[in-house]
Amino acid sequence: MDFKELGLRAELLDAVRKAGYTTPTPIQAKAIPVVLNNQDVLAGAQTGTGKTAAFTLPMLEILSRTQSGVKKSRRPRALVLTPTRELAAQVAESVALYGRNLRLNSTVIYGGVGINPQINSLKRGVDIIIATPGRLLDHASRPTVDLSTIEILVLDEADRMLDMGFIHDIKRVIKFLPLKRQNLLFSATYNDEIKKLASGLLNQPELIEVARRNTTAELVSQVVHPVGRTRKRELLSHIISDGNWKQVLVFTRTKHGANRLSKQLITDKISATAIHGDKTQGARTRALADFKRGQVRVLVATDIAARGLDIDKLPHVVNYDLPHVPEDYVHRIGRTGRAGLSGEAVSIVCPDESLQLRNIERLLGKKIEVKLIPGYTKENIPTGSPQPTSPRRTAKHGVKGRPKWSSNPAGRSGSGASSKRRDSVGEGETSSRNKYNSRSTPKGENADRKGSGEAVESSTRKRFFKGKRVTTNSNQRFSGSKS
Ligand code: AMP
Repeated sequence: MDFKELGLRAELLDAVRKAGYTTPTPIQAKAIPVVLNNQDVLAGAQTGTGKTAAFTLPMLEILSRTQSGVKKSRRPRALVLTPTRELAAQVAESVALYGRNLRLNSTVIYGGVGINPQINSLKRGVDIIIATPGRLLDHASRPTVDLSTIEILVLDEADRMLDMGFIHDIKRVIKFLPLKRQNLLFSATYNDEIKKLASGLLNQPELIEVARRNTTAELVSQVVHPVGRTRKRELLSHIISDGNWKQVLVFTRTKHGANRLSKQLITDKISATAIHGDKTQGARTRALADFKRGQVRVLVATDIAARGLDIDKLPHVVNYDLPHVPEDYVHRIGRTGRAGLSGEAVSIVCPDESLQLRNIERLLGKKIEVKLIPGYTKENIPTGSPQPTSPRRTAKHGVKGRPKWSSNPAGRSGSGASSKRRDSVGEGETSSRNKYNSRSTPKGENADRKGSGEAVESSTRKRFFKGKRVTTNSNQRFSGSKS
């Protein structure tokens, strides 16, 4: 299939060609004609599948078709809601890229930065707003934005928005919108919450699904390197230097851990920078830009800061700490192997992370290959921890032949449920009504409005903390049924 067959105008086809795309991705081929037909869409597609262009291109086409040409009367006509500032910024970049030949303009609205420049740009008049829910609500309530003229609403990464507790904010935003509008909902997963949101929001949507990464991420090779906790950093430096890796995204569970690790890597003469919710938006943007330009080799990120990061051709992702929520693993490794390119996801796993590893493998429905790195294996695992079996047996027999590591050895800091809770609070954009947040960090609620509060937890995570088995409910396949 060719982009020309999708019904997009010459200006958009030219922009797509200049972006270097020759063929539409599956989600683009499926979604673009449906959106152009003015239908609502419920699409199951993850980051990396080309979903941004799948909604941006037809959105730009529709807005151009009915553009009045009178600049004075410019009112926002399309609204894209995203869970994070970074994703909002990236969608805005795509809108500018694909719309380069059009007379439409856009603005991005998120917390953590001054509100006045946003007010000024809204005053000047925009066609498209890309926003995170909290700051947009600020504007709508003042009101410094009028959303009553919105024709197209896009919820990007809707599942992440719900995970982050944005449901009430989304509902409040929707109240500012006109009843008659086109709705496009993109989500990587399809759980009961998404079903409920979709059934209340979408009007006879066309259901579109493309293959999910955790079933088809065959382009991403995954490997586990076991190591004792105290030698994780050393092993990471070794892998990066030994493989002469030039661009690596490393995930840590905590902001503190991200800071510490990036400093340690610098001590090891590996250029690194950290990106997380405690950094100012300016510092986050700079860190990402330096990493994208190749000025730093390693970007150390926490899950929420990394959500939505689109880094072209990222070859390596490292899980320095395994995530507590297995779905986060899928999101993490989705940063590599993007748009048809191969990539490598490495997990540096210490004995007290065996439970997380098991849960991830259960979600993937397969075992991840284990490779022992000579010099960093059993002899280095701290005494008291059970030892791994031989490399061959481990690799060949997967989990069954794997060391029976304890899931949560007593006294090991940072691994227990309480420390998980403590550590994971304080990340990402905050919902104004995050139940988990309001229980654990009472001050977190107001922090969102100022753009500095960063507490987030998902319902899945809550269940996990209660010691119950993590449900895979939130990761069901999209199905044709809305029930
Ligand atoms: P997304 O899923 O929207 O985050 O897109 C992932 C990456 O795929 C981005 O870097 C896009 O620039 C790239 N991309 C989007 N559409 C295409 C296409 N048709 N061909 C090649 N790359 C694409």
